[in-house]
Amino acid sequence: MSKIFVTRSSMPEKEEYFKEIEELWDTHFLTNMGVKHQQLERELKEYLRVPDIELFSNGHMALELAIQACGLTGEVITTPFTFVSTTHAIVRNGLTPVFCDINPVDYTIDVNQIESLITDRTSAIIPVHVYGHVCDVEKIEEIAEKYHLKVIYDAAHAFGVSYKGVGIGNYGDASMFSFHATKVYNTIEGGAVCLHDEELKKKLYNLKNFGIQSEEVIEAVGANAKMNEFQAAMGICNLRHVAMEIEKRKKVTERYRDNLRDAEGIVLPPIQENVIRNYAYFPILVKEELYGKTRDDIYDELKENDIYARKYFYPLTNKLQCYDTNWNMGYTPNAQYISDRVLTLPLYADMPLDIVDKICNLILRTRSR
Ligand SMILES: *Cc1c(COP(=O)(O)O)cnc(C)c1O
Repeated sequence: MSKIFVTRSSMPEKEEYFKEIEELWDTHFLTNMGVKHQQLERELKEYLRVPDIELFSNGHMALELAIQACGLTGEVITTPFTFVSTTHAIVRNGLTPVFCDINPVDYTIDVNQIESLITDRTSAIIPVHVYGHVCDVEKIEEIAEKYHLKVIYDAAHAFGVSYKGVGIGNYGDASMFSFHATKVYNTIEGGAVCLHDEELKKKLYNLKNFGIQSEEVIEAVGANAKMNEFQAAMGICNLRHVAMEIEKRKKVTERYRDNLRDAEGIVLPPIQENVIRNYAYFPILVKEELYGKTRDDIYDELKENDIYARKYFYPLTNKLQCYDTNWNMGYTPNAQYISDRVLTLPLYADMPLDIVDKICNLILRTRSR
């Protein structure tokens, strides 16, 4: 059997992509907000059901520039149970991350602990819809209004997710989506910020394109984070199939659930109410105190069989050696507990169900060893 990785990028048929990029050989217009970029922007706005969207070269730059465009200062409340990009984006803007713990149910920010972390230097909350699980957006909005804080969601995992019938990109001042090759929906590399404020959109556009207004007018000190036409063309193709890809992911997820449902000590990911899901990840918790084996035992067993599950998210970002140890890294025991026990199993749209069965059998077998 060939190697099985935690994910496998969705791709259109190559003929479909070739047809989509063919005209680029006529126009020689490869980037700088060309026709593919414009088309994808329109189509994504509709698919995600958001008032406005700005596309980027990748999700990280989208988040970093969204933070800059919002003019944040001082301290930002966030969680350490995420991909390193979230914390990097805060730190690279010269801001101090203040780490809030996560709740042990869906692993998103523990909204009951946010207020105790607010100081007169706090300017924003940057929560993460981790694994596509929806944060408590209502409570976060309430706190943000009370203390006049901005909210920027890291929605990198939440493409196509909706809550109470509303596209998840509608919440907060801005939401960042990642279209990296490993995500539910990809533009090879790519990302977007969904937002509803025209001023903010203008600032973001400036930041992604050197602040160029016209040939002779440079309005702002911008960076370069434009999505190019080949990326946008991939996005146009993949968008035609993403609903079907999510349906297929659902089937894989259900097979995992059926197989692992009765394993004591293995906690399956939660099913949230009022949420339309995207089945982005299948993170299990291995409670060794009940299961008898550790997360690492299972990780190793799978690896020996050429199956590469991932310890998303371990280590926590507030344990990384690259950060200034003068900061207060916070006390986040729930995040630590989850991070020490979580294992994200392989999941992608075209994953054969007999591979799911094999993975589950290997997992269950560790117990009798
Ligand atoms: C993937 C990811 C990002 C960064 O997105 P890129 O498109 O890879 O730059 C940020 N945050 C989280 C939680 C992610 O998983």
